[in-house]
Amino acid sequence: ATPIGLLVGTGRGAQLGILIRGPQVLEDTRKIDTVLLDKTGTITEGNLAVTSLGPAAGFDESELLALVGAAESPSEHPIAHAIAAAARAKAPLRETSGFNSAPGGGVRATVGTRVVVAGRESWLKENGIELTDAHRADLASAQQAGATSIMVGVDGAFAGLVNLTDTIKESSAAAIAKLKALGLRPVLLTGDNAAVAKLVAAQVGIAEEDVFADVFPDGKARAVRELQARGQVVAMVGDGVNDAPALAQADLGIAMGSGTDVAIEAADLTIMGNDLAQVAQSIELSRKTLGTIK
Ligand code: ADP
Ligand code: MG
Repeated sequence: ATPIGLLVGTGRGAQLGILIRGPQVLEDTRKIDTVLLDKTGTITEGNLAVTSLGPAAGFDESELLALVGAAESPSEHPIAHAIAAAARAKAPLRETSGFNSAPGGGVRATVGTRVVVAGRESWLKENGIELTDAHRADLASAQQAGATSIMVGVDGAFAGLVNLTDTIKESSAAAIAKLKALGLRPVLLTGDNAAVAKLVAAQVGIAEEDVFADVFPDGKARAVRELQARGQVVAMVGDGVNDAPALAQADLGIAMGSGTDVAIEAADLTIMGNDLAQVAQSIELSRKTLGTIK
């Protein structure tokens, strides 16, 4: 039988905009000592904007944007939304076929007659596109400046960079301070590059040694397992398709209400207001609720 206090706790959660899958979840929540946080869409708004384009020889900015915008248009990823929106603002999107995507990697599609690949370096490599040292230097300088940079290949050759930036949610720093005040260790886990990840971590108060960047979707779940193997009780907070395996593996999976359906289905808790402060509230709620049951 479920103690009445837990049912009251779930009801109280609903009032706070926290959807709890079942009463048992509150008990698991109480034991959490480490909170892994996805970056894009969790700590940041996930409303990226294209800030600059770096076309390679043979391409100009508008052709690069038109090709990658069309290729990204079927993708759900915030990076894809931003690039497609930027392209659409300049010209109607071109017809796209044969769309393919690798979560945490990138996309591939045929735009008109051209095969367009966009994503991280390893994804371009998988598609037979190599970067030169000069390309890598351009990439590094964009990343040092805080950009999330996407590499683009067209018909098997490198075609340029698309640089995007995101904004940190206004509430994130205070919410992370609250987690620390509750005795929890916040850890940043992201598929994005290390330079951006460290800049974001510094701004929200996550220690540099607790930043894990360039992590693949299976790497997120593996990170959860490694911490669990060391005896830590782990909550994972995320919103993307790429976060789902880690949300399922965590002792407590927390999805953003704005997140993808896959993330919400994999989670134990859903934060309807998309505010990280609600993560701390959930943990406080479980501590209080269970405190009153005994
Ligand atoms: P995050 O952990 O920041 O939410 P993801 O795991 O979703 O990031 O993605 C990791 C990286 O994979 C991105 O920074 C990007 O380089 C690449 N990527 C993922 N999806 C796409 C996409 N639709 N288009 C281009 N690149 C992508
Ligand atoms: Mg995300």
